[in-house]
Amino acid sequence: MSGAVSRRMLAAWLREVGVDYVMLPARASSSGTAVETLDDIRKELTGCRRCPLCAGRATVVFGVGNPRARLMFVGEGPGSEEDRRGEPFVGAAGKRLDRWIARIGLRREDVYIANIVKCRPPGNRAPTPDEAKVCLPYLLRQIRAIRPEIVCTLGATALNFLMGVEEKITRERGKWRERDGVPVLPTYHPAFILRDAARETEVFGDFDAIASRLRLPPAK
Ligand code: URA
Repeated sequence: MSGAVSRRMLAAWLREVGVDYVMLPARASSSGTAVETLDDIRKELTGCRRCPLCAGRATVVFGVGNPRARLMFVGEGPGSEEDRRGEPFVGAAGKRLDRWIARIGLRREDVYIANIVKCRPPGNRAPTPDEAKVCLPYLLRQIRAIRPEIVCTLGATALNFLMGVEEKITRERGKWRERDGVPVLPTYHPAFILRDAARETEVFGDFDAIASRLRLPPAK
């Protein structure tokens, strides 16, 4: 029996015996229904074999950070270092992302970081549409559980799979979108900036837009 069903049954029974106010352990959404926690979602992914990526992974890289983050980042999928350590964005690209986060006065622990797919695609290739389709519901549930004020997608793959579009990141970065009521800002992937440093000023502009929307003090 799922947690949601057992909570509903308990609430129905309490109403029957005259109790009409119950403190729910999980957060409630605006519609009043209990929202699952990140741990609920993480448990479902333990030992996941829903797509072929499970064959080559060492770890399911679920996501990391503040479960109440105001800002959430979405990348495409774990690389070899992430697969080994079980945490997203811990390699060279992750260090650059950390710098961008620090530039707007936040720490890695303040935000939440996840990927479109939770298992490493072989050879660090992008996830296929089928792999992304299987894994995307978990990301959407993570977004629902965290309810960030902004989701920032990193690179074309994250933008396209999250939004269900086929766009070029060079045209779309910096343009606000919305997914399930959450504002989404696409920017470049840090690995791309490691190869083309001249474009980093555009990322700084995107992070300034994020800071301004979150009413963070301007970057120094
Ligand atoms: N690139 C990504 O898209 N995600 C990671 O976690 C690491 C590198």
